[in-house]
Amino acid sequence: MIEFKNVTKRYGSKTAVEDASFNVKEGEFFVLIGPSGSGKTTTLKMINRLIPLTEGYIYFKDKPVSDYEVYEMRWDIGYVLQQIALFPHMTIGENIAQVPQMKKWKEADISKKTAELMVMVGLDPDIYKDRKPAELSGGQQQRAGVIRALAADPPVILMDEPFSALDPITRESLQDDLIALQKEIKKTIVFVTHDIKEAMKLGDRICLFNEGRIEQIGSPNEFLSNPKNDFVKEFIGYRQKENITVGEFVSENSQEVNNEDYPLVEEDTKIEDAFKVFAEHETVIVKTKNGNKCLNRQDVFKHLSLKRGDSA
Ligand code: ADP
Ligand code: MG
Repeated sequence: MIEFKNVTKRYGSKTAVEDASFNVKEGEFFVLIGPSGSGKTTTLKMINRLIPLTEGYIYFKDKPVSDYEVYEMRWDIGYVLQQIALFPHMTIGENIAQVPQMKKWKEADISKKTAELMVMVGLDPDIYKDRKPAELSGGQQQRAGVIRALAADPPVILMDEPFSALDPITRESLQDDLIALQKEIKKTIVFVTHDIKEAMKLGDRICLFNEGRIEQIGSPNEFLSNPKNDFVKEFIGYRQKENITVGEFVSENSQEVNNEDYPLVEEDTKIEDAFKVFAEHETVIVKTKNGNKCLNRQDVFKHLSLKRGDSA
């Protein structure tokens, strides 16, 4: 669906993206991740030609992106930004309807689609359709921003840290919505984040950038079971030097369980070894002095992000 072949982007003498090659499959949820300044946004914006590339090739549906008219790209590729980018003078309904109207859909179809999408993300159309963005909370505005990108039914959606400005609870609920939406509508999504927890939760595959270069591309499981180098290990939170163990992730309040469906690990198992178990299992049972405790993969990432000082 989207193919990068040896793509490089330079700003003067500064190389923002270097020799990037990857292939996003149709219907895939593809996550671009990396530290700040590693080239994620630049990569994303080269897909819909908001930024021109310096060297290499980018194909969209087997045709170089340079062969498309810019407006065609905007129609076929929805785009969601970190900052809420709804038009403040338009109602939520008008914001969502914008691209369908440019595409000259019938009014009745637009209304139906708008209402459908609003319901899907928990915004009652009868209440919110005629409100202005400023009358909605940040989380509601961001939901509206996401469905605006979906409204014209583009086959591809690009999302640049769409949830990073939201509080953790709103963020998790939007992530859940997006997973459900993706299952239902089967879009190709390219999603930028710097949060490994978010990447592991959402991505079919993850592409990890470091200073403009791709360090590893693979499924969450491949990242856990087979991190390619020290940068990848550090980024996903192995922290080998400190010999962190799974026991540290189990708190007094962790649920006590005795369920033979989950694999059992000792509390002094190094996190590196535990990740190999997590690669196959969402949940493990940690055997501790105080009984057998349940530990989820997501909880481990949550704690690791906190330890690293990322926002939760
Ligand atoms: P990310 O989204 O991963 O934080 P970006 O793709 O925004 O990273 O930026 C990658 C690198 O390119 C950074 O070092 C950034 O400073 C540089 N950069 C981005 N845009 C420009 C620009 N317009 N001019 C010069 N340098 C830029
Ligand atoms: Mg960015």
